[in-house]
Amino acid sequence: MSNCPNCNNPIDEHEAGRKTDACVAIVIMGWRPHMIADHVWVGESTNNLINKEEWLPSKNIADAWEVVEKVIQDNAMTLRWYNPDGRTSHIGVTFGFGFGNKIGAQAFTAPLAICRAALNVVAND
Ligand SMILES: [Zn+2]
Repeated sequence: MSNCPNCNNPIDEHEAGRKTDACVAIVIMGWRPHMIADHVWVGESTNNLINKEEWLPSKNIADAWEVVEKVIQDNAMTLRWYNPDGRTSHIGVTFGFGFGNKIGAQAFTAPLAICRAALNVVAND
């Protein structure tokens, strides 16, 4: 079990919500807090502002998919889904290099599994 590079709590204990979204924004997306406007993230350029109310990767699969794309592009990894232990209530996701080492996570929902797996990629880097 790895700890989050941002908040230092166990990644597998990250739940869907603002705290996890913030960890992913900072650690995975490389965004930073705005010096004045608390409701936005500053993206790759100062012209690129992301509204915290609208970017919810731990709950919204469209936003989570941006996280997938970022991890794949930054690390040349592939994405796989799996069914952990036949538990239909959980979904698993791994990032890996071909058939080699894989880093992943499980959660009740796909967006949260993606967020946890992405944080594990950086934590194990
Ligand atoms: Zn965290």
